[in-house]
Amino acid sequence: MPVLVILTRYNCKRVFKVNLSSIILDLKEMLDAERYSRDTLLTQYKAIYKVIYKNYRHHDISLLLSLKIINMLVGKYERIKKKIIIQNRPYGLVVDPANGCNLHCPSCVHSLSQTEFDWPNGLLTDESYNNFLNIYAPYACYVFLYNYGEPFLNPLTPAFIKKSKDYLLNVIISSNLSIPHLNCRSIVESRLDTLIVSLDGASQEVYSKYRRNGNIDIVFDNIRSLVSEKEKTGSTRPYIIWQYLVFEHNSHEINKAKKIASDIGVNELYLAKPFAVSWDDPNILVKENFDDENIVFKNRIYHINEDIETLLKRKETISDFSMFNNLIPIQSCGNNISNYNEECNFLYTTITMDANNRILPCCAAPTNTHQLVFDHFSGNNYSYNNDFFIDARKNTYIMSGQETSYSHPYCYYCSYKGAGLFDTAPRLREFLSDIKSTKLHKYIDINIIDENKCINTKIKKQPKIISFLRAIGHKIKNCYKLLIC
Ligand code: SF4
Ligand code: SF4
Repeated sequence: MPVLVILTRYNCKRVFKVNLSSIILDLKEMLDAERYSRDTLLTQYKAIYKVIYKNYRHHDISLLLSLKIINMLVGKYERIKKKIIIQNRPYGLVVDPANGCNLHCPSCVHSLSQTEFDWPNGLLTDESYNNFLNIYAPYACYVFLYNYGEPFLNPLTPAFIKKSKDYLLNVIISSNLSIPHLNCRSIVESRLDTLIVSLDGASQEVYSKYRRNGNIDIVFDNIRSLVSEKEKTGSTRPYIIWQYLVFEHNSHEINKAKKIASDIGVNELYLAKPFAVSWDDPNILVKENFDDENIVFKNRIYHINEDIETLLKRKETISDFSMFNNLIPIQSCGNNISNYNEECNFLYTTITMDANNRILPCCAAPTNTHQLVFDHFSGNNYSYNNDFFIDARKNTYIMSGQETSYSHPYCYYCSYKGAGLFDTAPRLREFLSDIKSTKLHKYIDINIIDENKCINTKIKKQPKIISFLRAIGHKIKNCYKLLIC
């Protein structure tokens, strides 16, 4: 029976040993008491750690991956049960390395005609990002290192990516890439997984109508340099997506863009229907009757095993994670709210921090009337169950459509429904399918990561999975009690 060895971050000399057999015994009793199919569930539970361990032969790697998976499963359970105080940590992170941008696109917080957004400039510090990762990253599967700002304006961004990879996070960046003297080698060496390049046109005149202050020649030069660095180093990362937002003014350049995209070496051209921006600039109109189109030139390759090999070569990493430390905030978690319509997935899956350490619930920007600053990250505060998050989960959609008041979280009035701008199900599916080589898929029904299937059909038809998730939730709570001494 494997023994889990946990080193605490605060005092590395103290080593806590938790015998997995005792955890499993507790689980067995619980399952007996609840009259579930004990053997099936027990097998699944044990299998997560064991299968991963069998493949990687490394306790800490197996712990880290098991922790991410267990956290995700608990999260799914909490979401289905519509809990208000939740036991899982967010499995998607959104962090802005820079709050500023060199461009001024209409409708963005950096549009020169917008004054109501509360988005002060700032650069994320090394210390703040490291502390944030320490608390959230062991449980998370991916990090979006962008929201409202140009990530590569912060010279530390390649170092942030590298640090994120130490926690086996899938890292995604979106950039305008209109950055002179960009250090493309450091980006390729950082092992960034995905780079989305915002480039909506094939000529300077058309491109700069929306990407104000952007220089298309610099963007193309940077793409060429990145592709060349990938070739020189033999790296398949980053997967480069040319994202082309299709407006009335640039749709005639789509064919030209397709030709350039295939020549220049991007992996994919994504022709996307944008949100309306005419409320900010009436001359910029979204192309009518246009459906999104993806043209893939070179397929994506997944890298988790490569990331693990890199970690294993660097022996100092991983073992100093306090993976279970503070996993469950000491608060009651028994609420079972069933009379709300739909809650926003962001509040269960994602946490956002801007470059000034403000904690936000999603990718929306605060304004004078939109209360979206839920906390300030001070280096060690866990915000996901603070009063704002609890209030937001409790009240989402109750007052939808009413005039907003700054005294409540904006979620009170927000009518957004869905998986979020960053569709979590495909991301999680990708993440899990990369570990799938470990035969983990035999034990975890990959469909449970799909929000809709989860809530509408699949889970309802699988009471065993529900009880499995519940059992794991209780189990983690007990684990925490063992470890906070
Ligand atoms: S490039 Fe992005 S962050 Fe910068 S102004 Fe445009 S939309 Fe905003
Ligand atoms: S309810 Fe609206 S404002 Fe609140 S987290 Fe979800 S999308 Fe953001």
